[in-house]
Amino acid sequence: KFVMGSPDWLESLCKRIHEVGLESAPDFITIDGAEGGTGSAPVALMDDVGISLNESLPYVVDILTKYGLRDQVRVIASGKLTNPTMVAWALAVGADFITSARGFMFSLGCIQSMHCHKDTCPTGIATHNVRLQSGLSPKIKSQRVMNFHHNLIHEVEMIAHSCGVTEPRGLTRQHVRIVQGGSKSKPFSEIFPDETPIAFQGIPVEVVAENTSEKNN
Ligand code: SF4
Repeated sequence: KFVMGSPDWLESLCKRIHEVGLESAPDFITIDGAEGGTGSAPVALMDDVGISLNESLPYVVDILTKYGLRDQVRVIASGKLTNPTMVAWALAVGADFITSARGFMFSLGCIQSMHCHKDTCPTGIATHNVRLQSGLSPKIKSQRVMNFHHNLIHEVEMIAHSCGVTEPRGLTRQHVRIVQGGSKSKPFSEIFPDETPIAFQGIPVEVVAENTSEKNN
């Protein structure tokens, strides 16, 4: 899991995977946006370091596609994906899954007081202090967490259906438009066109992949 600074190292990693063999590829990559971070993260890192998910997610998907590794490596998106619009966007851009901590924390009662590392969490979530913990009612809050999860999935599905696809995995970059200057919007597929696999060392990547898996069998 990482927050991206420059995409260059990911290209180097993909080249190295082809040199060493596809079995060396990770099963998945979790890409976190610069906007993510726990309440105990240093503020300077939270606010100013890394590329936002809006930019880094398409980079990761496109680089894996370019090197023929998209089927091999699952992409998990993370970083303030608390509402159905952003979850649908991430799936449309190319994520296989999303993870969210923040949305579930909110539904549990987190007020973002950023004391997670001090054992003084006022809502009783991130503390061992028995008095503070008593403020968290599992009976009530479990229902709220369940409601959040249920409604999030329901609304992502609703967005997918309104775009004319049968399930959220059918969303593509053509379904997303990004507002530009002058209130005009552009399809995301124009801003980040789908990548096509390149030839690697003169051989198409699919062939490299096939040869590598034959060698490994
Ligand atoms: S409410 Fe608790 S869990 Fe939420 S940020 Fe504050 S200390 Fe952390």
